[in-house]
Amino acid sequence: MKNLKDFRFEKFACPRCKSKKMIRFAWESGAELECTECGERFDEEDLISIDDPSNILSVKEKLAFIHAFKEDE
Ligand SMILES: [Zn+2]
Repeated sequence: MKNLKDFRFEKFACPRCKSKKMIRFAWESGAELECTECGERFDEEDLISIDDPSNILSVKEKLAFIHAFKEDE
């Protein structure tokens, strides 16, 4: 018998290379999944809430975006 969390976790594939070899890192505030194939990391929340993989930014891309935004101010 599988619970919903296991089901969700199993369907995750890397938005970049489609690998399902994702390693999960969890903290109190959330979780990230790191792809063992291409090395990119993604917020678990994004993988759950965004249907189109091309709209999912990696953690690195998000940090770069936030940084660029701050420098503009
Ligand atoms: Zn990947």
